[in-house]
Amino acid sequence: MHQFINGRRTRSATGRSRQVIDPSNGECIVEIDEAGPDEVDAAVRAARGAFGDWSRATPGERSAVLRRFTQQLSDRAEEFASLESRQAGKPIRLAREFDVPGTIDNVDFFAGAARNLDGKAAAEYSPNHTSMIRREAIGVIGSIAPWNYPLQMAAWKMLPAVAAGNAVVLKPAEITPLTSTLFAEVAHEAGLPAGVFNVIVGSGVVAGEALLHHPEVSMLSFTGSTSVGRRVLDAAAGTAKRVHLELGGKAPFVVFDDADLEAAIHGAVAASLINSGQDCTAATRAIVHRSLYEQFVAGVAELYERVRLGPTEDPATDMGPLVSMKHREAVAGFVQRARAYARVVTGGTMPVGALSAGAYFTPTLIADVEPGMEVFREEIFGPVLTVTPVDTDDEALRLANDTVYGLAASVWTTDVFRALRGSREIQSGCVWVNDHIPIISEMPHGGVKQSGFGKDMSTYSFEEYTAIKHVMLDITGERQKAWHRTVFTL
Ligand code: NAD
Repeated sequence: MHQFINGRRTRSATGRSRQVIDPSNGECIVEIDEAGPDEVDAAVRAARGAFGDWSRATPGERSAVLRRFTQQLSDRAEEFASLESRQAGKPIRLAREFDVPGTIDNVDFFAGAARNLDGKAAAEYSPNHTSMIRREAIGVIGSIAPWNYPLQMAAWKMLPAVAAGNAVVLKPAEITPLTSTLFAEVAHEAGLPAGVFNVIVGSGVVAGEALLHHPEVSMLSFTGSTSVGRRVLDAAAGTAKRVHLELGGKAPFVVFDDADLEAAIHGAVAASLINSGQDCTAATRAIVHRSLYEQFVAGVAELYERVRLGPTEDPATDMGPLVSMKHREAVAGFVQRARAYARVVTGGTMPVGALSAGAYFTPTLIADVEPGMEVFREEIFGPVLTVTPVDTDDEALRLANDTVYGLAASVWTTDVFRALRGSREIQSGCVWVNDHIPIISEMPHGGVKQSGFGKDMSTYSFEEYTAIKHVMLDITGERQKAWHRTVFTL
């Protein structure tokens, strides 16, 4: 029973099922039922039914539910970490130290933020009227999430929406649905009323499309690939739904000639291999000044070769498998083609022996990459870093922006002026200076260009999930108002 509709786990009536596979060993964790249009409709109706009361609950009441939710998630942190690790192939250390605590902190943040929805002060902006702003929930939010951080994505989609008084129907990725359903169940146990947060588990083309086109869904919030993001935009046009898109990335990692090389090398390894490189903000394109180039390539290659691939449940494992054999095939294809036009310095192999049943792929460094090449342009979404030499700061910043994406970037320098120039000139939703990856609940996450628009996390996300209403009150009591004479003089 993997649907969570109107406060209960239910089984879909489609008769269709799917195995959730542990990508570290190819074993089936559980067989799940898949939702069809009827389940999507039931979830949307449940959300619509719950919306009225929830949107009228006071911020304090909504906050109290989220505070209890924080506590219950904390109590069950290990259960979430273990399930997330198994279904997504994450090393348990990453699930325990990043995915789960990050999610709990997000819930905690929105428990507070729910009481801090703000707007302009009510005031007399015309001498004859008092104007005030109401910030109102939008209605039913249809959310669709990817497989790379299933729990965090469920949280990022649900929290600002629910904290602001909306009801949500979430469709997680069909290959990693387990923590999303559990997340909804625990939220309900913490006091979230039935119907406020529903999870439908099913494929993109069936359940996803049904959600995108449902006339009772007021807004679509999508995180995933840019190609599916375009479908979301098309579907939204039908009933003019509001849209929030968090799409792909191809983050540049710019190393200027005055950078602390050791810091840049360590930073590049961590930022490119986190979650096996299946991270939309992961460092993917190192753009390095020629004076440091060969040392950078050698340093990253040396650390890449020391990274421990291993069973996901082993706390000593640094890197787990990719999410599926199918995805590994796609990643391996990019690397195989690159051998013909660039220098694969290390990696690009699949381990044999004990790990051969899993979707493992070794950390892969590709040097001498030029801007026109496939690996510089396309999102690979695996443990693959390309390196491109440059001769000037101008060239580095031009190449950083030479992409259709604009989600995240970093600059590595010890010069404050270069740091400021890089932060200003790189077109992306986030620029780190001398670091790459950390996120915090208080600050927004979201892209520009074909990485999408709108923000997750932080109070900025309330801009997506609330509508601003202007309420204007006459304060003169006059029957014939001065401005009427502009229209008629009787
Ligand atoms: P995907 O676009 O293939 O799938 C994302 C979700 O969309 C899944 O739930 C899938 O079932 C659903 N879907 C697929 N086809 C659909 C359709 N026709 N109609 C409705 N729903 C459909 O992406 P993925 O492979 O799961 O995730 C990887 C991608 O996500 C990468 O491009 C990555 O950059 C991106 N991503 C972006 C962010 C961000 O914050 N910008 C975060 C994580 C992942």
